[in-house]
Amino acid sequence: MGVPAEHVSINQITTRRWTLGQAIDGCARHGAGGIAVWRDRLAELGLAEARRRLTASGLAVSGLNRAGPLLHAEAAAREAALEDARRAVAEAEAIGAACLMVLPGGLPEGSRDLPAARRMLEEMLGRLLEAARAAGVSLALEPLHPQYAAERSMLNTLAQANTLIERLGPGIGLVVDAYHCWWDPALGQEIARAGDGRLLGFHVCDWLVPTRDPLLDRGMPGDGVIDLAGMRSMVEAAGYTGLVEVELFSTRWWEEDPDLVVRLCLERCATRL
Ligand code: ZN
Repeated sequence: MGVPAEHVSINQITTRRWTLGQAIDGCARHGAGGIAVWRDRLAELGLAEARRRLTASGLAVSGLNRAGPLLHAEAAAREAALEDARRAVAEAEAIGAACLMVLPGGLPEGSRDLPAARRMLEEMLGRLLEAARAAGVSLALEPLHPQYAAERSMLNTLAQANTLIERLGPGIGLVVDAYHCWWDPALGQEIARAGDGRLLGFHVCDWLVPTRDPLLDRGMPGDGVIDLAGMRSMVEAAGYTGLVEVELFSTRWWEEDPDLVVRLCLERCATRL
């Protein structure tokens, strides 16, 4: 039991107060194995410098956040989103990210037609995949909790994501985020289904009781009700050998010293997973 620090990646959102440069130094200083990078912070540092510092740090890049949202009511907005997503593919390639996270988006403005939005998503992903395959970048679909269906992502269950991934073919895979999926009755079955080399990431935080804010009140691993050790066993049984990524959207933890937060994340991964 327990995930050693060198198998843990710290998502940059967890250390939101740090710049990318500070986050790279901090993750390396605490002995983490990797980091997940956000594009807005990448832009602050510049791609070439970020790449240089990441390489020098020895950290693996477990993911780049993100391409998308891809779903928009207007065709012009969808084309602009695809253009931006293709730039994200190039950035993921440049920093050697294990995958590029893709945020589908919620219901397009003014729409109540979920099936149409799902069809639109498949078409958009198919187009983005051409660029991703050419660059050798893996696109990652991470189903989000259904509470986000209207505004952030209408991709909400592992089964839905797996079906889409199977239809789209090579170059796209699944990220399992404990916060979004822990409640799913098909959890074990769907993780196993993605095991055929399509499992690209495993994100952890915890579900607090009560949860005061659906986006920004996620718990430090071990502080909530998710069987994180059980989920870790499932992803490993499915053949996942990548890093465990701690992704903590939390106004409570963002107030703390990021050094303390990283230390605690690594300690919890070592003792609670
Ligand atoms: Zn996640």
